[in-house]
Amino acid sequence: MRPHNIFSIFVPTFFLMKGYLKRNSADNFKKVVNSATSVVILTHTNPDGDALGSVIALKSYLSTLGVRSRIVVPNPYPKNLKFLDSDGDVIIYSWKKESAERVIKSADLIIALDFNQLKRIDDLEPLVRNSSAKKILIDHHPLPEKEAFDLVISNTEVSSTCELLFWLIREMEDGSINRIPDISAQSLYVGMMTDTNNFSNSVEAGTFLMSYELLLHGVDKETLQLKVFAGFTEERMRLMGHSLLNKMKILPELGAGYIILTKSELDEFKFLEGDSEGFVNMPLNIYGITISALFTEKDEHIRVSLRSSDDFSVNQFSRKYFNGAGHERAAGGRLYIPVEEVGEYFEESLRKELEAN
Ligand code: 5GP
Ligand code: MN
Repeated sequence: MRPHNIFSIFVPTFFLMKGYLKRNSADNFKKVVNSATSVVILTHTNPDGDALGSVIALKSYLSTLGVRSRIVVPNPYPKNLKFLDSDGDVIIYSWKKESAERVIKSADLIIALDFNQLKRIDDLEPLVRNSSAKKILIDHHPLPEKEAFDLVISNTEVSSTCELLFWLIREMEDGSINRIPDISAQSLYVGMMTDTNNFSNSVEAGTFLMSYELLLHGVDKETLQLKVFAGFTEERMRLMGHSLLNKMKILPELGAGYIILTKSELDEFKFLEGDSEGFVNMPLNIYGITISALFTEKDEHIRVSLRSSDDFSVNQFSRKYFNGAGHERAAGGRLYIPVEEVGEYFEESLRKELEAN
């Protein structure tokens, strides 16, 4: 990879970095990591690009400090992200329960990335909660469950966990990313790119500075774009067409739109994890629509995805009605009702929430 050039030592970068991290975060993190002998890095159920990108970037970076670590995720990540885990380092709990449990039980340090409530790791929650290992959180969601962690590095002003991790690593490296491994650079870029929906949401000035530095470092943005956003099956594209043509319901009087996909539809279009990524944003492209939802029927629950393009808080909406949480403009949750009742439940809940605000 190309070395840094002089232009990357910009003064604004220095100030931004200081603003994103609390004083001593990097020193504290370094201290805890250096005194650990068995490190496990964890992320949330249904890992997305930011989740997978951050765990892989951190593992690879820690190895340059001489710290070995293992990665555990609760269930599989989407196929189009497999290239990030090219060595197959990620232990998927739902596939390898015993080995995931063994690794967590023997850990003396657990680092949680891209989630902030232990319930987001589902069946792994009790094991992690009851573990005597030290626990560190690095995350960008509001209202972290602080009491569950010994060190919390949290900031909601960044685009992604990968961005926060970028600033943390940069500070640990005294303000330069010259020495970070190529795998870390690439993974951090992918996590930021996917969490911002390809530079369209939650992009702040610092996000561009981070991108700038990673591109100077040699990250190949065209290849990553193709791998992440052009790796779908034909069935996925047709499911998208079906969702827009036949399933999207628009409620102009509420400024909202939603899509419900049943299990049989998902089967018909040979649904793979990650295929519906981005669908929830589509109603927001319609004039006057500022709230949107996507519901997908799973075996034991309905998965809920919520978005807003104004000051309507889908984080609050999800906490109140959908057993979930997230960010102000992007949140998720679960429903435990028959799929036939979801439309009416959503419309009623939204009416109540809009009246209450
Ligand atoms: P997505 O709609 O892309 O699955 O999720 C949007 C945001 O909401 C993400 O930041 C994600 O972490 C959060 N989120 C998604 N599902 C859940 C959930 O079931 N519980 C909580 N607490 N957050 C969720
Ligand atoms: Mn994220």
